Amino acid sequence: MNKRVFIIGGGAAGMACAITVKQNHPEYFVTILEKNDRIGKKILKTGNGRCNLSNRNMGAAFYNDPRFLGTCLSKFTVEDLLDFFKDLGLFVKDDGSTRLYPYSETATTVMEVLRQEIARLGIAVICNCQVMEIKKNQTFAIGTTQGLFEAEVAVLTTGSQAQEKTNGYQLLETFGHRIISLRPGLVPIKTQENLKSLQGLRVKCMASVYERETRLHQDEGEILFKVDGLSGILSLDLSRYLNKDNRIALDLFPGREDLFLEIMAILARKNLENALLGMLPKMLVYEILKRNPDQNLKKIVHDLHNLEFTVIGTYGFDSAQITLGGADVSEINLNFSSKKVPELYLAGEVLNIDGASGGYNLHFAWMSGILVGRAISGF
Ligand SMILES: Cc1cc2nc3c(=O)[nH]c(=O)nc-3n(C[C@H](O)[C@H](O)[C@H](O)COP(=O)(O)OP(=O)(O)OC[C@H]3O[C@@H](n4cnc5c(N)ncnc54)[C@H](O)[C@@H]3O)c2cc1C
Repeated sequence: MNKRVFIIGGGAAGMACAITVKQNHPEYFVTILEKNDRIGKKILKTGNGRCNLSNRNMGAAFYNDPRFLGTCLSKFTVEDLLDFFKDLGLFVKDDGSTRLYPYSETATTVMEVLRQEIARLGIAVICNCQVMEIKKNQTFAIGTTQGLFEAEVAVLTTGSQAQEKTNGYQLLETFGHRIISLRPGLVPIKTQENLKSLQGLRVKCMASVYERETRLHQDEGEILFKVDGLSGILSLDLSRYLNKDNRIALDLFPGREDLFLEIMAILARKNLENALLGMLPKMLVYEILKRNPDQNLKKIVHDLHNLEFTVIGTYGFDSAQITLGGADVSEINLNFSSKKVPELYLAGEVLNIDGASGGYNLHFAWMSGILVGRAISGF
């Protein structure tokens, strides 16, 4: 039977899914419905326009749900993704570490090969077409801003609230799918402290997120101070672990357990301020001294290992790269089909899956889209 497969949302997951289905079943009618005037708009923003499309250092631990991801990653590796893109003619390279980018270092190249393949395969793309309602009887009735469509198979790849607006979550709720509460992720963090005197400074450090005395997460990397908060890749990654009333503590000298004795030795020749000026950028020295007017060395060393900031929130969805929360994965099967509605599939960021920065979120979007495509194709 020549099935009609409708894919709702033309982002990374939706396009990867459409291509996979049509490559395996050229006789199927595959259509992408996209609310924007073009497909793949978010992809153009990724990796500062360079599109960090995956990461060679792949593993379930980089995601919020390692159990679910462990199964997905056993079915679909980074090599599988590289083969998918090689087939499309995309040249890929790493950035000297494990992050993977298009060789051209521009996201438009990724969109170019996806568009070429969509056109070559004859996948229908209908833009400026927002899905407003879906109902299922024998078939799906998909109500859109451009009229009603009928389909045997529907795939929901509507993405997230990060720098976008989507009603995809509400569409799923009408089918009885549970949506885990939505929060901005990979987003700069707002702090109670005014950080004007540190604004623009970047420091490499070890950072921990604490809830009272419990450490929720620890990671190493670079922080960028903003006037009222913390940004930089490390802060974005920390934002995935935040709850209310958290503290962030920066260890500016990780592993230097003898700092007290080291500074004591320097103090034989210099005063404290000059000693600190040999250790840290000026802006941080004055922040530490401001916090320690009594110049107690023990407390200063404590601050050098635990420079604390009180979290009061984040910069919100407008500044977020991803959305935490989404459709509960316990309500889908391992092939991403809905446990609630036969022939409905979910893929990409609409699901309650979030990954670290470094290509993990796009990897999940491509991977889940391709795995849905395989499931619809019957393997
Ligand atoms: C600034 C920025 C930088 C990022 N950089 C990276 C990076 O370098 N590496 C990385 O791995 N991840 C990155 N991400 C995250 C990554 O872009 C997403 O995780 C990924 O695009 C999710 O893919 P998706 O297909 O699920 O959703 P999307 O790519 O968001 O696609 C969803 C599509 O569905 C459409 N849609 C929504 N609702 C409807 C509807 N009702 N009807 C019709 N169409 C609808 C939307 O318009 C959209 O085109 C970045 C995100 C942002 C915002």
